[in-house]
Amino acid sequence: MLLDLDVQDRRVVIFGEPAAAASTARRFARARARVRLVCAEPADPAPPDDSIAGVCRLAQPEVQDTAGLLKLLAPAWLVVTAGPPDELSDRVRVLCHRLKIVHTHHTVGPTDKRGRVVLVGGGPGASRLLTIEACEALLDADVVFYDRLAPTDDLDRLAPGAELVDVGKLPYHHPTSQHRIEELIIERARRGQVVVRLKGGDPFVFGRGGEEVRACRAAGVEVRVVPGVTSAVSVPAAAGIPVTHRGISRTFTVVSGHLPLSGAELESLARLGGTVVILMGMAGLTQTVTGLVAAGLSAATPAAVVERGFSDSQRTTTGRLADLPELVGRVGVTSPAVVVIGDVAAFAAEQVGSGPLASQYSLLADPGR
Ligand code: SAH
Repeated sequence: MLLDLDVQDRRVVIFGEPAAAASTARRFARARARVRLVCAEPADPAPPDDSIAGVCRLAQPEVQDTAGLLKLLAPAWLVVTAGPPDELSDRVRVLCHRLKIVHTHHTVGPTDKRGRVVLVGGGPGASRLLTIEACEALLDADVVFYDRLAPTDDLDRLAPGAELVDVGKLPYHHPTSQHRIEELIIERARRGQVVVRLKGGDPFVFGRGGEEVRACRAAGVEVRVVPGVTSAVSVPAAAGIPVTHRGISRTFTVVSGHLPLSGAELESLARLGGTVVILMGMAGLTQTVTGLVAAGLSAATPAAVVERGFSDSQRTTTGRLADLPELVGRVGVTSPAVVVIGDVAAFAAEQVGSGPLASQYSLLADPGR
């Protein structure tokens, strides 16, 4: 039976093996309980998050020290034992029964405490677009290393037992280097922690997920990947743009605009037709657009830029390909944004810029063109 309890301002006493008890204490502290954490000193050097805000730590009495245990239990509204059941948790259960204090054994969290890394795709930023498997991984996590574009607003609730570490990367500004991130996740997994590396979108789409998987494997650390909803497809969709559409586009190519595209790449893209989706494309937009037009893509090709997909401030700017850089400058488009080039861009639900696209392109009126 599941019971939902409001523990705010309630005195909760938590017993258990240090790592499990600390994770449980963090969950209760985030639910604003008054937490007393009773556990032995961790054998390992304590992780950096060892002090949990609002949690009072107390020394663990011997199992036979009934008076000492009763003193700790008496003021409790709820007693929680965490980690593998042992002699102490049995004793605490018996004493709680005798004192008529509610006791529960905390089973949330991984039962298998082997250290490991789970690389989780967080989707384009809205927590409702996390997969069920992503939510389960977060629920189990001891520590979450997250990026700027991951769904960060709700992490307290989604990963209630985890220490949350921002290794957020701003464009061209990496507070924590890729190498350091790899060191950190490996170090924590080796300490026996369940590490979630939470990334925006899908970890393997311009997310350096492959490098992190390789680093873990090379270090002998178990690693698993949870795919995510990529912005390359979902952000255009949020603006009403299908990346493929029967009769209009049967290919879509996802390109990184982080570095300039070569002449050969631009020519291939122009020749291939279909839809071109550019991520990280704002800084180099003028160069990319000029290059595509020079490579033979029609200047009149519909194009759209979708900023901050799935946020309250999502905005779509649409226009002819050749006009896009000027338009984008005029309306002040900023990252993160996805650029869509191709006839499907005319499907954009919201049309900003130089006149309604529907009147310039007959796509919406005549989708079978
Ligand atoms: N792995 C990610 C992409 C990382 S590259 C994925 O699969 O989505 C980062 C780029 O993704 C940004 O520069 C931007 O182009 C795009 N992006 C990610 N989230 C976005 C969002 N919510 N709105 C608009 N663009 C987004």
